[in-house]
Amino acid sequence: FPMIKKFQSNAEAIAAADQYLYGNHARMPIVMDRGEGCWVWDLDDRKFLDFVGGIAVNGLGHCHPAIVKAMAERAQTMLHCSNYYYNAPAIQVCKMIVENSCFEKVLFANSGAEANEGQIKLARKYAVDHGHPERYVVISMLKSFHGRTLATATATGQEIVHNPKWYSPLPEGFRYAEFNNLESVKEQLDDKVCAILTEPVQGEGGVRPATQEFLQGLRDICDERGILLMFDEVQVGSGRTGKLFAHQNYGVEPDTCSMAKALGSGVPIGAVCARGDAAQTLIPGTHGSTFAGGPLACGLAAATLDTMLNEGLMDNAVKVGEHFRAELKKMVDKHPGVAKEVRGLGMINGVELTDNEIGPKIVDKCFEQNVLINCTAGNVLRFIPPLVATEAECDIVVAAIDKALTELGK
Ligand code: PLP
Repeated sequence: FPMIKKFQSNAEAIAAADQYLYGNHARMPIVMDRGEGCWVWDLDDRKFLDFVGGIAVNGLGHCHPAIVKAMAERAQTMLHCSNYYYNAPAIQVCKMIVENSCFEKVLFANSGAEANEGQIKLARKYAVDHGHPERYVVISMLKSFHGRTLATATATGQEIVHNPKWYSPLPEGFRYAEFNNLESVKEQLDDKVCAILTEPVQGEGGVRPATQEFLQGLRDICDERGILLMFDEVQVGSGRTGKLFAHQNYGVEPDTCSMAKALGSGVPIGAVCARGDAAQTLIPGTHGSTFAGGPLACGLAAATLDTMLNEGLMDNAVKVGEHFRAELKKMVDKHPGVAKEVRGLGMINGVELTDNEIGPKIVDKCFEQNVLINCTAGNVLRFIPPLVATEAECDIVVAAIDKALTELGK
């Protein structure tokens, strides 16, 4: 490819990025080059332990052999065909999801936001189909994150994502309640509500697992009123919590549920899973996309699910996750007053810090030690590594934070 510039170093590539790349993301000063398992290398050949995992996308780890194989197979057969036709990988993915969940049908999208947009449209049409055109409001939770399209940004329970001064008018029909507070949800209920939307474990909101009572209470409310319970499992689905779906840890079944991130192992994909009447609501012409459910994304999703379900990755997530939380607890106990709580489920874990300033400093100190982690919700260190992570790799992260805290005088 004679036109493609080959960059020799981080500095050279970042200088070009400063000139050409739109600055809509704040980035660390490295250029990712390649990866293997939980490890990545930058253009200067510096090696990092990756506990950000592409924000929960690299579930199988970098360059998993199953994904390499599926990718080669797709490149040699077909990458794309129109949704005017069926393709086998899409059907295989739906079958695997349905056979391992409470759902009956799966609809594809290209991202988490698009899948959630689909859930919102589905809920509104479901209400109309069931004789309730007056129902259009979706109740979502404070501190939630559902995406950055106008509807999903509005469904997100965070002012900073709404930014009405820039994006007004925001779509109508969204209300917010406190996560894990059924009374707060009940205060928002009236005849206009068509659905309740929540993450079973809030990710961007600071790694906050729902209580059993909360999810069951939402199920009961939705059953009593004939409205939909919709879960967003974009971040915590696809095996991360030790089950294919996080809600399977609770035994509470939603009517619909979104997936994305780890489902495609790095190729963009989203999905809406549905059961009962909700599995019949979106008819031709209602929701879809040129790329959604294409053979490339679905070929990789099929390989991802097959590996996830058959190679013990979810059991590993539970076992290693428990070890990680125990070691994090021991470590923060050595630094009194620094942490409020260590929490998580499987391979989504977090440390809530008492101080809002220190999180980014710890992230930077870990970066200096070649360990990638991130800080979300202002004061929560979040760890969403590949599900293949080992106890020894978790110990490296714990030691890096320990050292960071010592150096910061904590
Ligand atoms: N929902 C949740 C719970 C998420 O964590 C995210 C992304 O972080 C999204 C939706 C949006 O997904 P995407 O970035 O693929 O649009």
